[in-house]
Amino acid sequence: MDLSKDSSRSALLDAIRRAKRIARIDLAQLTDISPATVTTVTADMIRQGLIEEVIPEELTSQSRRGRPRVNLKLRADAFLVAGLKVAETTISVVLVNFVGEVVAQHTYHRTETRPAPEILITQIQQAIDATLADVDYVFEDLSAVGLGIAGIVDAKRGFVHWSPFLNTRNLELARMLKEAVNLPIFLDNDANLVAMAEQYLGNAQNTGNFIVVTIESGVGMGIVIDNKVYRGTRGCGAEFGHTKVQLDGALCRCGQRGCLEAYVADYALLREASFDTSLFKEGGAERSIQDLLTAARKGDPTAKSIIDRSSRIFAMGLSNLINLFDPELIILSGERMSFDHLYAEEVIEVIRSSIVQVDAPPPDIIVHKWGDFMWERGAAAFALVGVAEMSLRDGLDRVA
Ligand SMILES: [Zn+2]
Repeated sequence: MDLSKDSSRSALLDAIRRAKRIARIDLAQLTDISPATVTTVTADMIRQGLIEEVIPEELTSQSRRGRPRVNLKLRADAFLVAGLKVAETTISVVLVNFVGEVVAQHTYHRTETRPAPEILITQIQQAIDATLADVDYVFEDLSAVGLGIAGIVDAKRGFVHWSPFLNTRNLELARMLKEAVNLPIFLDNDANLVAMAEQYLGNAQNTGNFIVVTIESGVGMGIVIDNKVYRGTRGCGAEFGHTKVQLDGALCRCGQRGCLEAYVADYALLREASFDTSLFKEGGAERSIQDLLTAARKGDPTAKSIIDRSSRIFAMGLSNLINLFDPELIILSGERMSFDHLYAEEVIEVIRSSIVQVDAPPPDIIVHKWGDFMWERGAAAFALVGVAEMSLRDGLDRVA
């Protein structure tokens, strides 16, 4: 196999994706690949249906070279993929085309929340079916499925070591789903998929080294080094929530003591606050967290001390991350508003003052609150990058 040609093909496709529209000559400059190779490789990609030429519609008389510059762009219809997130009571799905546009989105409600694997596979199929039906597509229109599930996942093997949403450990989930739907499956944990969503569609499109910390019912993390998600060797390389912040500390859901999550996650805060029932009105778990935060804001000393400690421990954990990785950017990412105290400016100030001080600016820390199918879009991005690579590798023709 011509490896150098192979890597220049992915570099060029990646550069076209980032630029959205770009002329061949600029592509050569940007990637440091010779104009002759750019011409050959892009001709191949046009033949395969991965990219297409666009001629700018209106050209002013001041046009730089006096004739239309033909740009290249990804071909939206080259692939349609489904991106899924398996959550406690729902499976949510987005359909995304090759340029990253969401074509449809759908939330499927499941009754059994920790089902046997076969039932989960059926639920996933039904969720995809319902989404396709919304826009009159069929399974055959899909090129791949990206799937996100919370837990400890080995993406390379498509293997789930453990997930809170399955009744079985050590499951070859990607293989099972592939057999059921006959499509390539790209499986990863939720935090890595958020990192991919930020990398391909979000705040980190121009950053090769960044960290995403996700805060939902647990604390997750995705590490991107030199444009690649770092996954460790056992598929559990970024368990930020289970880094230890206290010797012989609070009991974590993982069974160990002193984990960051045991001080920061909603269950941990509620556990601590449960001794003081006067803090809560009636309601579900989310409502209770809201009650706790409201009580803290109103100056209730118990609520305030629980929330303050959680924020301080979170800040300590993040400073450690920065000291270890020295990333360009940290994105604090979450769907729910209920963790506002962790995003507070005072917390970020503590982080800034706790990291190694040098004569260079600290990494940017940005807060990205989203409610728009972020994990699912990350799963779709993973699948799109995967099918594009497969297509480049196999020379698989996708011309419609
Ligand atoms: Zn733990």
